[in-house]
Amino acid sequence: MLRIGIDLGGTKTEGIVMDGAGTILLRERQITPQADGYQAILNTVRDLVLELEKKSGASCRVGVGTPGALSTRTGRLKNSNTVCLIGQPIQQDLENLLARPIRLANDANCFTLSEALDGAGRDAALVFGVIMGTGVGGGIVLNGKLHEGPQHIAGEWGHNVLEPDGPLCYCGKQGCVETFLSGPGLMRDWRKQEGDAALEAKDIVARAGQGDPKAEAVMQRYLDRFGRALSVVINILDPDVVVLGGGMSNIARLYTDGRDNVARYVFNDELRTQILPHVHGDSSGVRGAAQLWNPAE
Ligand SMILES: [Zn+2]
Repeated sequence: MLRIGIDLGGTKTEGIVMDGAGTILLRERQITPQADGYQAILNTVRDLVLELEKKSGASCRVGVGTPGALSTRTGRLKNSNTVCLIGQPIQQDLENLLARPIRLANDANCFTLSEALDGAGRDAALVFGVIMGTGVGGGIVLNGKLHEGPQHIAGEWGHNVLEPDGPLCYCGKQGCVETFLSGPGLMRDWRKQEGDAALEAKDIVARAGQGDPKAEAVMQRYLDRFGRALSVVINILDPDVVVLGGGMSNIARLYTDGRDNVARYVFNDELRTQILPHVHGDSSGVRGAAQLWNPAE
């Protein structure tokens, strides 16, 4: 059966139709009408699904990836940076609107599922997927199956406390991994060192690459924090593969110097876990949403 994947992002909503072999047959994109509120967003998802079904000439399974997670207690969405979705029973409402069961998962979980099934973690038993962008998230796939846990927070290493005297996090704690390893986290560390001189994350990386000692000092701290934060995860999960995605995953040194730091902090005399960049790029989320359904279902 054909599968539709919907990636419900803060600015755009993307939909694909995927066949049983994992090939994307159709792709559509719309602006997420955040300013128009919750019902408008639901309608956008419905319209995308109906349009994709019309074009493919088949009725499809529907999987949706979104920031945040459903509370297992209330069935309502929590921890989402698409703020108007918070507190809404989005899965139930979409099921009513589309008159069928749908599957819904966190966007980092969809990313991990996609990369584990036919991306960088293909053939690996245990994959830890990491998103490092404006935020830091993660997901766990074991033997091709997403592990969400009773609280739907499995893999959320971004809100492990790395330095208790660090910056305040939106989650209410201080010094979370996300406050250091996200793009804004890197920019904040630069400002802390250099005062008001604001610099984009990619410019800090570029300057360090050109031998600027001030930018290099910031990068050294960033890569050390990456090593400490990820070693904690590896000590618990001992994954075969860690796949990095999100804008910050383009930093080449994560796979060399960053990896060396992970090896230094991990509880073993060598690091056998592979740390790899994503394969499917921006499509990982929407692919993983479709792959919440098996082709045979
Ligand atoms: Zn936090």
